[in-house]
Amino acid sequence: DVLVIGGGGAGLAAASSATENGANVILVEKMSFLGGNTILAGGAYNAVDPKRQKPMNIEDSNELFYKQTFEGGDKKGNPKLVKILTDNAYSGIEWLEGKGMKFKDDVFTVLGALYPRSHKPIDPVGTGFILTYEKFLKENNVPILLDTQAKKLIIENNRVVGAVVETPEEILTIKSKNGVVLATGGFSKNIEYRTKYNPKLTENILSTNTPAATGDGINLSQVVNANLIGMEDIQMLPLGDPKTGSLSGNIETTVEDRIFINKKGKRFVAEDERRDVMTNALLNQPDALLYVIVDSQVYPNENDKNNFNESIKELVDENRAVKADSLDELAKKLEMDPEVLTKTIKDYNLAVDKKSDEFGRKLFGKKIIKAPFYAGARIPTIHHTMGGVEINENAEVLNKNGEIIEGLFAAGEVTGGIHGANRLGGNALADITVFGRIAGEKAANNK
Ligand code: ADP
Repeated sequence: DVLVIGGGGAGLAAASSATENGANVILVEKMSFLGGNTILAGGAYNAVDPKRQKPMNIEDSNELFYKQTFEGGDKKGNPKLVKILTDNAYSGIEWLEGKGMKFKDDVFTVLGALYPRSHKPIDPVGTGFILTYEKFLKENNVPILLDTQAKKLIIENNRVVGAVVETPEEILTIKSKNGVVLATGGFSKNIEYRTKYNPKLTENILSTNTPAATGDGINLSQVVNANLIGMEDIQMLPLGDPKTGSLSGNIETTVEDRIFINKKGKRFVAEDERRDVMTNALLNQPDALLYVIVDSQVYPNENDKNNFNESIKELVDENRAVKADSLDELAKKLEMDPEVLTKTIKDYNLAVDKKSDEFGRKLFGKKIIKAPFYAGARIPTIHHTMGGVEINENAEVLNKNGEIIEGLFAAGEVTGGIHGANRLGGNALADITVFGRIAGEKAANNK
């Protein structure tokens, strides 16, 4: 009944929801493993959740979540889709919990989330999402074809009715009566596309993404004239690994408890800002390199882990983080003036008391006071493509005349029109869950 193309978070959510809605589903994944970029994510999932937020004295509402998401994307997202995302994010968490996924009892603020409503899975990085769906699909005998790449959509009577797929051995035709769900992810690793839409994002700029993020869904959908929107909106993060561009190695655990300094030892931006604002500020610093600074209140124990399942000890041992028993020693190790660094930290700690600083930061947590201190170098890196195929509230793909393309649904990073010019950190996992779930349900019922 339903063919799902792509086995990241959006595709697995769509396959699960189509199955729950009574459809016979096949999922194809071009790589030899499931997970896409979803499995590499830190795992943060934003949702308004009084059960977890109230005990932490955090006031929140779907209205505030909507406002921050919509305005944080420069009001470029489709308001109807933003509302669906923000109103349904929490029920997405309950849906996952119903399938056995576990989230921690408290919330945090992931980089660029703007507010403490990020949920953290118990399982490391994005594995919890993938394992939860995989288990559910296995229990329901849903075929998952790995190493199987969709090459072309099949159209009959102006309706998408399947796809031609390629395995290492053969070329297959998979027909689906009710529809196809495109969940092929973004295009951060497609240099040609990247530079076509933003000439500044040349090959030498690193990315957090899996090599699979080549924008296949963009090509596939052009046979049916799908409308592409927001393609120029490509997100960079200020916290890539200096060697690989990856998310891993980042020593921050929550926005409230760390600062960024440049190579001279000075802060240069409100570290609770939007990702685009922070990255642009970083690009103007010496060598576009920053250090995340935390103290040992963040890592009371050497074996405590960051959001990427790496212990602080491991990171220090591998020279991916620097540890020092005093701020003077830290400054020396980072080759900066100890007086400058000490003053930066002193001023910041005063700002924590006042809950205000010269940069307009709003989210303050722990002071940086307790030795040992840690620093981790980070650089700008390409993270997420906000643009993609246009969808409506039913996750149906629209063509360039604004008409519904019969039989074609899409969810996740392959779509555009939700995050606008800048995606809030923690909103992608909510997006793929909410819209993957809708796409699966609508496709199942598209008889
Ligand atoms: P999302 O967050 O939107 O789910 P991901 O990057 O997590 O995006 O997942 C997208 C998945 O789609 C990846 O696992 C990727 O390998 C897969 N994929 C991309 N193009 C194709 C294709 N042509 N055929 C099958 N799978 C594909």
